[in-house]
Amino acid sequence: MPLLKLEDTYLHKGKRRALVAELRAKGIKSERVLEAINTLPRHFFFDSALISHAYEDKAFPIGEGQTISQPYTVAFQTELLDIHPGDKVLEIGTGSGYQASILHLLGAEVYSIEYQKKLFEGTQRFLKRLGIETKLFYGDGTVGIPQFAPYDKIIVTAGAPVVPDALINQLKIGGILVIPVGDRKSQSMLKISKKSANEIIREEFQGFAFVPLLGKDGWK
Ligand code: SAH
Repeated sequence: MPLLKLEDTYLHKGKRRALVAELRAKGIKSERVLEAINTLPRHFFFDSALISHAYEDKAFPIGEGQTISQPYTVAFQTELLDIHPGDKVLEIGTGSGYQASILHLLGAEVYSIEYQKKLFEGTQRFLKRLGIETKLFYGDGTVGIPQFAPYDKIIVTAGAPVVPDALINQLKIGGILVIPVGDRKSQSMLKISKKSANEIIREEFQGFAFVPLLGKDGWK
């Protein structure tokens, strides 16, 4: 990877501020989330050929048929998670590592799992190089990561056909799960708050489009 890619110029910083203004105009309210997006150079997570698009509010390919989520979607999901420093957070779908890095900047202890081996290996190497400390795993995140459960927050960054039971089980009481659920093309964002061992509250927000969640409780 050329070193040039890790240069954060005034041009990049300016484009990033404009992106943050765009996200604010689209309804993102959390100043902490906006500040994290303003801090983290999204172009570091892009293929060299696509770098000039890094500050557009769009999803882009990251290899293996997968995408880095649209900035608005990252901001929306992160806002719903209501991250506090020290929160133990599980992410399903590490992909480029951008969302995991935003969670890290907000002070979370991040566990993230990825189903595509090549992406897992590349992103693990890359986040280490950036000095961003996260615990990354290779495997099927629809079963969660039971050995480190329970989590304060769980975020799924691929579109699910159903809410996997394992994820609700691995959530602390008082915890929040944010997951897009729907068909293969479009999903609603669900915010599931676990009130007690057998009581949850569900809120739903429409109009999202993710790559499919695969694995045991994902698409076949
Ligand atoms: N959060 C990522 C978005 C990546 S797109 C980012 O910030 O870049 C969704 C990712 O979910 C893809 O990399 C895909 O390979 C992964 N994925 C799909 N099904 C999965 C599963 N069952 N377990 C873990 N990861 C999965």
